[in-house]
Amino acid sequence: MEPIRIIRGMRDILPEQSAAWRWMESQLSSVCARFGYAEIRTPILEQSELFARSIGTETDIVAKEMYSFSDRDGSQLTLRPEGTASAVRAYIENHVERSEPVSRWYYMGPMFRHERPQKGRYRQFHQVGAELLGAEGPAADVELIDLMVELAASLGLSGCSLELNSLGCPACRPAYRESLVAYLRTREDSLCEDCQRRLATNPLRVLDCKQEGCARVADGAPHTLDGLCAACRDHFDAVRAGLEALSIAHRVNHRMVRGLDYYTRTTFELLSGELGAQNAVAAGGRYDGLVEALGGPEVPAVGFAAGLDRIMLMLSGSRLPAGPDLVFVATRGQAAWEASLGMVQGLRRRGLCVTSDVRLGSLKSQMKRADKAGARFVLLIGDEELEAGTVTVKDMTAATDSAAKQRSVPLDELAELLAGEVRSR
Ligand code: ATP
Ligand code: MG
Repeated sequence: MEPIRIIRGMRDILPEQSAAWRWMESQLSSVCARFGYAEIRTPILEQSELFARSIGTETDIVAKEMYSFSDRDGSQLTLRPEGTASAVRAYIENHVERSEPVSRWYYMGPMFRHERPQKGRYRQFHQVGAELLGAEGPAADVELIDLMVELAASLGLSGCSLELNSLGCPACRPAYRESLVAYLRTREDSLCEDCQRRLATNPLRVLDCKQEGCARVADGAPHTLDGLCAACRDHFDAVRAGLEALSIAHRVNHRMVRGLDYYTRTTFELLSGELGAQNAVAAGGRYDGLVEALGGPEVPAVGFAAGLDRIMLMLSGSRLPAGPDLVFVATRGQAAWEASLGMVQGLRRRGLCVTSDVRLGSLKSQMKRADKAGARFVLLIGDEELEAGTVTVKDMTAATDSAAKQRSVPLDELAELLAGEVRSR
């Protein structure tokens, strides 16, 4: 029979990789906790309208990348393409602003976008993201960028660079937008088809178009920073001053506009030279109008999301800590196997990782399994050991002729001995 295949752009995280994922996720959670961020878990499915209203109907995500379908009752649902919209929906729905003036949230989990699959770009991918709601000043932006940079540092990712820009606010953006459109109109013929359309719908997106013609036009375009009102300019300067005080190196990228409509003021990206074409590790910005646009109170906010699949590509073996040592139990005969059960149970309860070959073949084949499994210790129980109330402990890493290679240990001293010598969980 023809086997059924996984969906294009989606991947299994097999057991041999999941330990690394777990480690990464636990590092990220601890850093978030150290910054005072608590985890929000929202459903993976939302009403399509949520993303249309927040991300914007003219964005690539909403226009062509969403996994949407009709539910049985006809309502339109979408697998979340990002995390901020859901977090804000939950924030509004639970009236969180009534109980706390400032909220610090983080989330982690799968996101879905129907993009062209390639290295670092998948249709189901994973993000960790953080949102700081309720603070309008630059201190919030600085805290969040600091968190983003610390998350990368906690995983040993060096060599990331931070880029920064400001998109202004509803007071200054319309005038900037007008000056940008006026400039782009004079060069319309050099723009790609998408950008010619964007001229009318979303002209700022022309600035980060990857097409060569558009990029050349964008290079000469007026800078968003030159169009900022005094308040936005002060905000931006203060964010930069904060980053400098933290010694967080950054550079201004005039062409970074981000692909989501809800951003205001500060936008930022963390890039890596190790990733090739898909070089954005994390990205975010301020979204002061979003809570209100989704029917909530006027609450300013700033957030970011980092791509875990891309981070995983960067985590070479040397950056990953070794897992716990494995203890392997090999027995000969029914009585020895029965005697081993309680011993194994006790060792596991003490935090040791213990396994065996449950097929219980010959001792030789069990030893082979232990070797294949990469066991640190093998515990042997045969007739002799049964009789003496001992276990033969083989240290698979010790030199062949060393005394530690093979020891006979009384059963009641075994746990103590192993606990002192292995890495446990
Ligand atoms: P890109 O420019 O790479 O498409 P983006 O601007 O669409 O990224 P965001 O929506 O800001 O990305 O998401 C934040 C992060 O999530 C990205 O920096 C990236 O690391 C990761 N990411 C986004 N889309 C994908 C995807 N399809 N596959 C894997 N990771 C992704
Ligand atoms: Mg994208």
